[in-house]
Amino acid sequence: MLTATKENRDGKQFVLLGGTIDETDDLAKVIGMPTGPLIVSCRDLTRINSVGVKNWMKYFSQLQQNKLQFEFEELSVALVEQVNIVKNFACGGPVLSIAMPFRCNSCQTGLTGAIKTEVVRSMNFNIAPVQCPKCGGSAEFDDVAEEYFSFLTRS
Ligand SMILES: [Zn+2]
Repeated sequence: MLTATKENRDGKQFVLLGGTIDETDDLAKVIGMPTGPLIVSCRDLTRINSVGVKNWMKYFSQLQQNKLQFEFEELSVALVEQVNIVKNFACGGPVLSIAMPFRCNSCQTGLTGAIKTEVVRSMNFNIAPVQCPKCGGSAEFDDVAEEYFSFLTRS
């Protein structure tokens, strides 16, 4: 089930999405229609199925048609997968930041951070390791960069 927490941030409407999106979720009902620029934070969206993708695109393409501005931040790993394989998944909305999976070399702990897409570009898609919060070891990016960032390399 999709959940949406709404707040106002510097005059912009902000919605934090969580849970899952499938055939039972009507985004227009859960999020509502924004009256101005909307920032969509997707950090806690854990799963989206194929019908969920259709529901997602129906909602955001309607916003696009209505000339409403929207941006995405902290696209979760599940959504990064979709934006890489589904054409026009973001419906013209810029993706400001994405979730990044890391895995510790020493203790195998998985962790997720967020990174701005402009930083990924400036690092030329070479992601530096981060420190493991559990054992202090080195945690490396736990995916294939060419695939994970492929949507950023499209013109
Ligand atoms: Zn560790």
